[in-house]
Amino acid sequence: NDLKSPSSARSTPHTETREFRHFIDGAFVASKSGRTFENRNPVDGSLIGQVCEGGRAEVDAAVAAARAAMDGPWGRMPVTQRVELLYKVADEITRRFDDFLAAEVADTGKPVSLASHIDIPRGAANFKVFADVIKNVPTETFEMATPDGGSALNYAVRVPRGVIAVVCPWNLPLLLMTWKVGPALACGNAVVVKPSEETPATATLLGEVMNAVGIPKGVYNVVHGLGPDSAGEFLTSHRDVNAITFTGETRTGEAIMGAASKGLRPVSFELGGKNAGIVFADADFDAAVDGIARAAFVNCGQVCLGTERVYVERPIFDRFVAALKSRAEAMKPGLPQDKSTGIGPLISQEHLAKVLSYYDKARAEGATIVTGGGVPQMPDELRKGAWVQPTIWTGLPETATVVREEIFGPCCHIAPFDSEDEVVHLANDTPYGLCTTVWTTNLSRGLRMGTRIHVGLCWINSWFLRDLRTPFGGSKQSGIGREGGVHSLEFYTELRNVCVKY
Ligand code: NAD
Repeated sequence: NDLKSPSSARSTPHTETREFRHFIDGAFVASKSGRTFENRNPVDGSLIGQVCEGGRAEVDAAVAAARAAMDGPWGRMPVTQRVELLYKVADEITRRFDDFLAAEVADTGKPVSLASHIDIPRGAANFKVFADVIKNVPTETFEMATPDGGSALNYAVRVPRGVIAVVCPWNLPLLLMTWKVGPALACGNAVVVKPSEETPATATLLGEVMNAVGIPKGVYNVVHGLGPDSAGEFLTSHRDVNAITFTGETRTGEAIMGAASKGLRPVSFELGGKNAGIVFADADFDAAVDGIARAAFVNCGQVCLGTERVYVERPIFDRFVAALKSRAEAMKPGLPQDKSTGIGPLISQEHLAKVLSYYDKARAEGATIVTGGGVPQMPDELRKGAWVQPTIWTGLPETATVVREEIFGPCCHIAPFDSEDEVVHLANDTPYGLCTTVWTTNLSRGLRMGTRIHVGLCWINSWFLRDLRTPFGGSKQSGIGREGGVHSLEFYTELRNVCVKY
């Protein structure tokens, strides 16, 4: 193929830009329309390349390729062979670790220290873990007596759903995409991925991996493009797509659910949140500060599991605010490759404008700005990057905009509380329900909080500690369904009962 991929362009001068093509039926192709859009590096605003914008023609071709793959050798491949191929995918991602790292870092601007510890290793692990799950999971059997004195054996078989649309966000591009592609392929489906328009690189690179290890063509397809009236909408409304898995904003989830209702396609949604962090006075203070600092600021606050509302028990409130302030101020913005960099930029100028508009609202609504609240001073060559200061507010009522709405930036509001009942009420007073992080050394209280906060994920004395076999997903407007371990199989397969009379 003639793709100018991130890896093949690695040794070319920085000034040369790249073209990100669709990956359809095992080949890298441009759009029939010739339409492209820019991909810019959020660190300095430089042009990384042009991304082909998919239209109906590309979506049709990708869905048809996926359908043909299901009707071909992939659809008949024994699970043991499929599992071997997925192990090879994981190994090839690991072998090309540096290429994936460079691609992810260029697209997102996130520190190398972060991407090399989380994004890329998890990208490989997502294939291994679900290969193991599908290999080992049993199905049920029931033997029954029949009215005529004979017997019948019922047994369930797992069958793939078919063609899965995978629509992804930009905050953890490879990690969140493979979190869905891994189990989808392990279950024997074919996929069409629509990566975020902000982060096309690693999904494209994964096409090279699929070809290198011998995944049959058409099993993994990528169509680049935007959301509404573009590849995202065309894919999710495509009648030959059997199921849709989506991670992104709640509002987008509503639009996709509308599209999925035509043809009654099942959906799995991982959506937005406004997660509460809760620190009791009996908490291990340093561990709590460390945990909340990560939850509020890591990945420049662009983590769905992040904490933008922090509640701290009154006796330690002032001390906690001061400690988190010094943690925020110690996070040095800088180049991803620089080991001393504590925080990268936001994903784009557009997102920067959104986050700054919330910073303005907090000020207008009377917040006390403990730290931050604007953009940091950066050297000339980085001035065009999407840099923003980690920000802490106090003093706002629960009705304030920045306490209600998901900002998806490195910021949090901290409020004091006086009792467990009060903080449970505050934490639950939101239309969202993705996760919470609770800090206490009182075991009984920790266990109680696990039942009292209305979320899909409750971390006690930890945050973002993930065992990929566990159920992952959100309550209320933070999602529909659970993925992870055998729960992913519930979405990516159907159980067929076979009843044999004998
Ligand atoms: P987004 O909803 O704007 O976009 C996500 C994807 O959907 C993109 O690929 C986009 O092109 C596509 N899209 C947009 N409109 C569409 C439409 N009408 N039809 C089909 N596709 C469409 O989200 P984002 O800004 O990329 O990501 C940030 C959001 O994702 C935040 O709200 C965050 O909380 C959420 N998120 C949730 C989780 C989770 O596990 N719950 C994980 C990561 C991110």
